[in-house]
Amino acid sequence: MNTSNTTSTSASTRSTAEWQAADAAHFLHPFTDFQALARKGSRVIAKADNLYLWDSEGHKLFDAMSGLWCVNVGYGQKSLVDAAARQMLELPFYNAFFQTTTPPAVELAELLAEVAPPGFQHVFFSGSGSEGNDTVVRMVRRYWELQGQPGRDVIISRWNAYHGSTMAGASLGGMKYMHAQGGLPIPGITHIDQPYWIEHGRGMDRADFGKLAASWLEQKILEVGPDKVAAFIGEPIQGAGGVIVPPETYWPEIQRICDQYGILLVSDEVICGFGRTGQWFGCQTVGSRPDLITFAKGVTSGYVPLGGVLVGERVAKALIEQGGEFEHGYTYSGHPVACAVALANIKLIREQGLVEHVRDDVGPYLAAKFEALRDHPLIGDTQTCGLMGAMLLAKAKTSAAGGPELFDPALEVGMVCRSHCFANGLVMRAVGDRMIIAPPLVITRAQVDELMGLIHRCLDLTVAELR
Ligand code: PLP
Repeated sequence: MNTSNTTSTSASTRSTAEWQAADAAHFLHPFTDFQALARKGSRVIAKADNLYLWDSEGHKLFDAMSGLWCVNVGYGQKSLVDAAARQMLELPFYNAFFQTTTPPAVELAELLAEVAPPGFQHVFFSGSGSEGNDTVVRMVRRYWELQGQPGRDVIISRWNAYHGSTMAGASLGGMKYMHAQGGLPIPGITHIDQPYWIEHGRGMDRADFGKLAASWLEQKILEVGPDKVAAFIGEPIQGAGGVIVPPETYWPEIQRICDQYGILLVSDEVICGFGRTGQWFGCQTVGSRPDLITFAKGVTSGYVPLGGVLVGERVAKALIEQGGEFEHGYTYSGHPVACAVALANIKLIREQGLVEHVRDDVGPYLAAKFEALRDHPLIGDTQTCGLMGAMLLAKAKTSAAGGPELFDPALEVGMVCRSHCFANGLVMRAVGDRMIIAPPLVITRAQVDELMGLIHRCLDLTVAELR
């Protein structure tokens, strides 16, 4: 592991100011206010190793977000790099259209069937999670056409969910500010509220609230008409929405409702997949039995782009036995280099026992540390699941309504805290006043301690600034 505090990568070929000027002049970043970026200048990340990043000024940062929830095996894993280089020399690209295939894509499809929950023997590859969810929309509707029910085309999702940025992905998502740009959602997608106790369940017993939140799905099915509802999609633990861990009663009740009305259940595991929750897939942690699983990110630990949909028996059987041609696919479906990297990545996760490491060791260790954080004056609530964690910054620990007293959103306390994090060598994300983490699965107990030290420091600095 590189422990130096300076960098001598290609970043040093230009000064930070030069990188920032060229960046602002030409690069339209995702989810970015371009004028603000031009004013402040981008943070230039120059290199990484293990859990750490270095910016172009040589500052070291603890990456508690695994890049963008994806670098599950940490940075600098040579076996993934070697797999990519070998495959690029052997066969850098060939497509999977028109009855052709490539060895890495076949081997990865086989291996995914091994690590997936029982009943998932097939996979459709995409290049990203968004494309995976676009595939879900087309596949779900195709399934119901094949059942002779083409009118069954409505997909129910949740407000505040994030399912990607393509037209279908952003429509499935429940981010209203995304819908406001570009005329979304597309037809046939509707939303229910999320199982977030602080927002919707204050004063209620949490288990009762879980059942209540699940009952909103049944209400929506009845409102739309059970013969029109094709599927329900949700992340086991809502990630980008702020690491919303639902009460334990939620998913079993959602499963019961899906079963009762015969609607397909889609588990978006772009974040929760590949060990993040302490099982290979998040549905195994929350106890749901999905028909389709969207994946991306952790399948390659983000080293190269790859996504897809694991297709359970019910849908696969219909597509294969009744289907004829499925008129859908991407140039990079089953990209050989991406598949070779995914194979190396999954092999590493297995060899290093990372899923068990999260489940039995660092996951519970982090949970105990987050529990203890509740004593901090700025913390109103904490939640963890495996290596996902959220802490709610609150004005007071209790309120008349039940639960913590929240800050005025206009104060943007989360953003204040996030700035202290960056200034003090920690990458942590703010979703409103929820500070969230999802560190690489290779994190050790000593590194959890290091992380908690940084978190304490940044919380204290935030308190001091608010005074
Ligand atoms: N689904 C979930 C749950 C995600 O968190 C994301 C991305 O963060 C996506 C889908 C979209 O994936 P991508 O950015 O690879 O298109």
